[in-house]
Amino acid sequence: MPLLVVGSVALDCVETTTDQRDDILGGSAVYFSYAARFFSPVRMIGAVGEDWPREHTRLLEDRGIDTSGLQTIPGGKTFRWRGRYLPNMNDRETLEVHLNVLEQFRPQLNNTHRDCRFLFLGNASPVVQLDVLNQAKGAVLTVADTMDLWINIQRDELGQLLQRIDGLVLNDSEAKLLADDENLVRAGQAVLKMGPKFVVVKKGEHGAMFFSEHEMYVLPAYPTARVVDPTGAGDSFAGGMMGHLAALGRFDPQALKEALAYGVVTASYTVEDFSLDRLTAIDRADLDRRLAEYRQMLMF
Ligand code: AMP
Repeated sequence: MPLLVVGSVALDCVETTTDQRDDILGGSAVYFSYAARFFSPVRMIGAVGEDWPREHTRLLEDRGIDTSGLQTIPGGKTFRWRGRYLPNMNDRETLEVHLNVLEQFRPQLNNTHRDCRFLFLGNASPVVQLDVLNQAKGAVLTVADTMDLWINIQRDELGQLLQRIDGLVLNDSEAKLLADDENLVRAGQAVLKMGPKFVVVKKGEHGAMFFSEHEMYVLPAYPTARVVDPTGAGDSFAGGMMGHLAALGRFDPQALKEALAYGVVTASYTVEDFSLDRLTAIDRADLDRRLAEYRQMLMF
C-alpha cells in the first residue's frame, strides 16, 4: 500500500571526531523514503532549491521512490543542516540550520497523494504538519515526528496536532521536555495522554520504547560495532516501521511490534556509513537476515 511522507530534503554537513563530510544528501523525507522503499511504494513531498544536484533525485527515482511531489523553488536554496557528534556518537549538537526554501514551503497534496492510506509527517512546524493532515483525506494511519524546537516555540499547535494523529515518534530528550518529566516511563505515558494512540520514544544506541493504552515495551538497538554517522537513524527507523505497516496494510499491536523491530534493524544499517551510503549497498534480504539475528538475540 503506498505510503506518503512529507519532510525535509537537505544538504547536510556532518562532523564526527574522526571524519567529516560536506553537502551530502540528507533530510528527514530522504532518509525516511529510502528506508521505507525496502518494504512498500513511497511518495515523497518536499522542496529543494536550484542548487540541488539532480543526481540525488535520480538516486531516489532509481529505487522506485515517487518524487513527483518534490518541488524546485525558482531562485531558492536547499535546506542545509550542519551537525557535530560528540565522541560517544550518540549525542550531537546542531551547528547551523539554514531553512532556505523550507521557510515558505507549504506542501500541496495532489489526488494521488491524498489517496495514500499511510502518512508520515516528518519533522516540521506543527502548523505545516496540521495543514498536510487536513489535506490527506485518505489517510488511515498518520504518524508524526517532532523536535525540541517545536516543543519550545509552538507547544499549543503541537498540542492540536497530537489530538489528531495516531502515532508520535520522538527522541527520549524530546519526550522528557514535552512531558516536563525526567522519568522516561512517566514521560511516555504523559505524551500518550496528550492525544496520540501510540508513542514511540527513540533512544539512539539504546533502542526504542513503545507506549499505548494497553502496552508498554522496550526494544534494544541492534548492536553494531561500526558507527560512522548516526544522522538519519531516527528517520530511517520511522521509514522501516511505516514501510512494514504499509506493506502489511494493518497496524494492530502485533504488526506494530514487528514494525518497530524492522525500524531498529533499518536504522542499524543507516549509522554504518555517511548519508545513504550504507543503505544503498544493501537489499531487502540483508534487512531480513539482520531481523532474524535480532529476533534470535531477544529470545531467552
Ligand atoms: P535524524 O538523525 O533522524 O534526527 O535526522 C537527521 C536529518 O534531519 C538530517 O539529514 C537533517 O537534514 C534533518 N534535519 C535537521 N534539522 C532539521 C529541521 N529543523 N527540520 C527538518 N529537518 C531537519
